[in-house]
Amino acid sequence: MPRIVRVAVPVPLPRLFDYVLVPHMEPPPVGSRVRVPFAQGERIGIVLDVVETSEHPDDQLKPISAILDQDPPLSAELIGTLSWAARYYQHPIGEVLESALPVLLRNGGELPEPGVAGMRLTDAGRATRADPRRRRGTRSSDLLEALGQGALPATGLDSGLPGWRTAFRRLRARGLVEDVRLPATPRRADPVTAPRLNDEQQRAVAAINAQPDRFAPFLLDGVTGSGKTEVYLAAIAAALARGRQSLVLVPEIALTPQTTRRFRERLGLDIAILHSGLTERERAAAWLSAARGEAKVILGTRSAIFVPLPEPGLIIVDEEHDASFKQQDGFRYHARDLAMVRAKALDVPIVLGSATPSLESLANAESKRYALLRLSHRAGAATPPSLTIMDLRRKRLDNGLALNTLAAISECLARGEQVLVFRNRRGYAPVLICQACGWSAQCAQCDRPLTLHRGAARLRCHHCAAEARVPAVCPECSGTSLAPQGQGTERIEEALQQRFPDVPILRVDRDSTRNRSGRDAIFEQLDVSGPRILVGTQMLAKGHDLPNLTLVVVAGVDEGLHSVDFRAGERLGQLIVQVAGRAGRADRAGAVILQTHHPDHPLLRALIDGGYPALAGSLIAERRQAGLPPFANFALLRAEARQMADVTAFLGLAIESARATPLAVSAHGPLPAPMPRRAGFQRAQVLIEAAERSALQAFLPEWLAGLRALKESRRVRWSIDVDPVDMG
Ligand code: ADP
Ligand code: ZN
Ligand code: ZN
Repeated sequence: MPRIVRVAVPVPLPRLFDYVLVPHMEPPPVGSRVRVPFAQGERIGIVLDVVETSEHPDDQLKPISAILDQDPPLSAELIGTLSWAARYYQHPIGEVLESALPVLLRNGGELPEPGVAGMRLTDAGRATRADPRRRRGTRSSDLLEALGQGALPATGLDSGLPGWRTAFRRLRARGLVEDVRLPATPRRADPVTAPRLNDEQQRAVAAINAQPDRFAPFLLDGVTGSGKTEVYLAAIAAALARGRQSLVLVPEIALTPQTTRRFRERLGLDIAILHSGLTERERAAAWLSAARGEAKVILGTRSAIFVPLPEPGLIIVDEEHDASFKQQDGFRYHARDLAMVRAKALDVPIVLGSATPSLESLANAESKRYALLRLSHRAGAATPPSLTIMDLRRKRLDNGLALNTLAAISECLARGEQVLVFRNRRGYAPVLICQACGWSAQCAQCDRPLTLHRGAARLRCHHCAAEARVPAVCPECSGTSLAPQGQGTERIEEALQQRFPDVPILRVDRDSTRNRSGRDAIFEQLDVSGPRILVGTQMLAKGHDLPNLTLVVVAGVDEGLHSVDFRAGERLGQLIVQVAGRAGRADRAGAVILQTHHPDHPLLRALIDGGYPALAGSLIAERRQAGLPPFANFALLRAEARQMADVTAFLGLAIESARATPLAVSAHGPLPAPMPRRAGFQRAQVLIEAAERSALQAFLPEWLAGLRALKESRRVRWSIDVDPVDMG
């Protein structure tokens, strides 16, 4: 009988660990959690195999301490996809599997019981209720009365019997009522009627539904407001009719209460939500209802790609171009790419949707790997917004806004409509300088300017946790000519408030939405319809319908034009088109003003003349010519240490060993990181490039094993990023 258990333990080593079963212990099922001794303590690992023999002598193997599940939380399909991901992204399997579990399970805990919390009468309670002499008119008696009809769920009593909680506790103390778990009966309501789909939408839905139980990848390329979400909803409804689950991934900032409500109302059922703002219990409950096949529609951000789908029907990745689908630390997976792998494993259709598809997905559509579905015009009566360039050269500016821009804002407000001023920088001003001596406030840890936050009266580094008081006089010359330089959202808000004192202004950025209640409150206020100015960062670029918004001002596009990252042009184009798409969504046409000092920049010209398709076309041609992704495969080795010498020693050896491989990969570097110092660490990197993905995949494991064995690797913090989306 096999007695050796191969366990994935969440430690930073890319291997499994063997343990033995103590006599009479039944072998645990694959995918279940076990408690095992590790180093000085104990860890929770996942069983990946039970075998006859180990490569280690049996007497060196430690026994399993406990088996935690008979019903494994990870299915064979998930284990397969996660093992693939561990290999592909070169991340230790134990950590990868752990990251797919709700935190409650990682710690060895139990899932919340299925069902919902409820209460019922005890025998004593029934007797008391029947007693004709009992006092009436109190909350307790009302609750006894209500429970006389049968057990009740806790939710739902709030409206009918306010204050029932106290009454319940009192009755429970007297032994008259008790807690009970009730089966979760998903709320079902009549779905709100869908609009009649136009021809393009119908064609898209028909294509997605054509062969439901088969892997089929689609790129839904539809301009903003063209009704992509309606296509998703129709395809989900078809999956629901077959009793199948749909998983919908959205970027973090697009998962607003409005989105959730739209899905719930239109499908007429509860939606399981998974995102980082939930409590661990809430996440575990949503995960569990998906795992039991009860949740038919799961809407979540990046990490929801790991949710169990026992009855899979459809996967959708909305705004597939969004960089937030890529995890930027630890296990650096791309949720969109993993969604593709999972859809294949599950044999279901997958839809990647965007108004501004990534060049990767466009190239896949071009090569016919994905079927292309187009929605070429806005749904309903809405017309596309008109883009105009505001040339800032030799213009007088008021807090970064041209006088013509301010005039356009004023006219828009006078018509009773709303304006969005987009500025991708939070805070008051990106720099504080001394006009007398030229001193500026810098982060001592990062060599980058500190951002002035006037409301909080602090200087803050946006790259590390550093913070400082705002000095009253210049620390260099003791002069009093300290002045904020440049504009952040806070300053633009202040300037507009002074100019339009009677108009409500709502600022939406990471500072104003830091906690959940602030965020919810802001998203509720977004629905207000009178004249209003919104000032915000890319948090406002997507997700929320703003029906009365007719003018979008992009305060500055120039920073995006000058970035060194090869994806900067693609990003800027996507951002402009997405923000522009917020304008004129209902019956009014929208206008977009792009402020720039470079009105003739080819990127802007392409966008104005031919829209995103023209820009994407020219960017793809450039990438092909230059041998950049998606026409090459990259992996980035990053390293940092207090001393640059340690970084270059490590990276130098890494390059040497890469150049010794017979495989068709090349190594570039060591290159300084775009931010050469961050949080006190010196940083550099090595870029590995391969024309063939298979060559890169064959090269990485051995190379990294060699690096791990280097003593120089212990003097640096290092990581590997396969398919990096951010070259910093
Ligand atoms: P997208 O997801 O592409 O941005 P939405 O699905 O949110 O677009 O649709 C934009 C707006 O147009 C929504 O208010 C939606 O209700 C409406 N809409 C979508 N399809 C239709 C249609 N076929 N007829 C009428 N209105 C539609
Ligand atoms: Zn000074
Ligand atoms: Zn810093």
